[in-house]
Amino acid sequence: MRKIVIASGNKGKLTEIKQIMQGLDYQFVSMKDEFGYVPEIEENGSTFYENALLKAEFIYEMCDCWTLADDSGLEVDALHGAPGVYSARFAGLTSDSDKNNKKLLELMDTVSDTHRSARFKCVMVLKCGHDRIITTEGTCEGKILRVVSGAGGFGYDPLFMPDGYDRSFGELSADIKNRISHRSSALEELRKKMELLND
Ligand code: IMP
Repeated sequence: MRKIVIASGNKGKLTEIKQIMQGLDYQFVSMKDEFGYVPEIEENGSTFYENALLKAEFIYEMCDCWTLADDSGLEVDALHGAPGVYSARFAGLTSDSDKNNKKLLELMDTVSDTHRSARFKCVMVLKCGHDRIITTEGTCEGKILRVVSGAGGFGYDPLFMPDGYDRSFGELSADIKNRISHRSSALEELRKKMELLND
């Protein structure tokens, strides 16, 4: 079975990717399992695609095997698309999810209920050969809540309520999130493209 190293150290993402890609004839392994540690990769691209590509290529050079990288983040309309590619470090270089969520709540404090639209975006890059990459994208529309709700998921999940639901990603089950998330759409599309690969 061909091995694919997932170029992400984020435990939440690793779990989601493994769950969604279950049943495919590939063995998905983490960087920790492959190298024994998680290499630091500087994400200095200006788009999700650039960041995903640089992570996939960096790890490909290290392991000389296929790699899968994603880059994702939250775009809030009232903040003109922020935090976008800066989602992980929205509250500064030492940010964590609590600090990022606190900053988002503060910035959105005076924004009315009708202007709280936002979306999670995800770009997947599978580097499957020296000159070959496969790219897919996924989006999940929703809105930003006024209080942190739920303890599930990771990152901005407790503040994001996907369209069509009355609870946050932090409250919804992992199964529901995996069915409708930006990452699952990008992975489902990738899965279809991978089924057409014959090597
Ligand atoms: P990345 O690891 O560079 O893709 O950083 C993405 C950041 O966006 C994460 O650290 C989270 O803050 C946020 N993010 C991306 N996807 C999700 C999600 O599914 N739920 C909550 N936050 C997310």
